[in-house]
Amino acid sequence: MTVFKRRTSPNFGSRNKSIQIDMLLIHYTGLPSTEVSLKRMCDPEMEVSAHYLIDEKGLIYQLVAEKDRAWHAGVSYWAGETDTNSRSIGIELQNPGHEWGYTPFPNLQMGALRELSQDILTRYQISNRLVLGHSDVAPARKKDPGHLFDWKWLAKSGVGYWPETSPVKSSVDSITIRKSLNNIGYDPRAKIVDVITAIQRHYRPKRIDGKIDADCVSIINALENDTP
Ligand SMILES: [Zn+2]
Repeated sequence: MTVFKRRTSPNFGSRNKSIQIDMLLIHYTGLPSTEVSLKRMCDPEMEVSAHYLIDEKGLIYQLVAEKDRAWHAGVSYWAGETDTNSRSIGIELQNPGHEWGYTPFPNLQMGALRELSQDILTRYQISNRLVLGHSDVAPARKKDPGHLFDWKWLAKSGVGYWPETSPVKSSVDSITIRKSLNNIGYDPRAKIVDVITAIQRHYRPKRIDGKIDADCVSIINALENDTP
């Protein structure tokens, strides 16, 4: 396992014991450097944290014990559950993000993420379908980890899910699409354009415009058909 460093964050609480840990949530820090990110996540006034932070070289910091509820998801929703922090393990990847100069995620960082994630998925028996990005559970508010995050590579290396799509012929009306998005787990209260954008960031990063095109419809169909 990659080198582990411990920094204790005071920003956590107790998990809701009636909620099972069944999700791995991936973020970027959106801050200029690892030091700034660590400082922020360990500052009691900031009230933010994650279980892990991985820097660009693949060094893993543990900030909060997995048994505790870290504060990374904020206002969020997936498949009927709004207490995303109780149901998930949260991993932050150091990256300046859209605000400070978004950069590709280095191989060393992705490798460490894969290794850590595989271990977490095994220990909690988390489904690959529930390896999600912050933008999936908070589409109106969040962009992370964003279009430069290589979900496809991660899924092909055993962490997360990549849908096999087949082209669709006809266009689909927005009521049908909405139903499908709800069935997949996306927030039914979010604007459809925000949810489509979140799907594009995750599964179709080459064009992010929030528009429902044939490509998006086939991705949505695949996701819905494979929803457990
Ligand atoms: Zn985030």
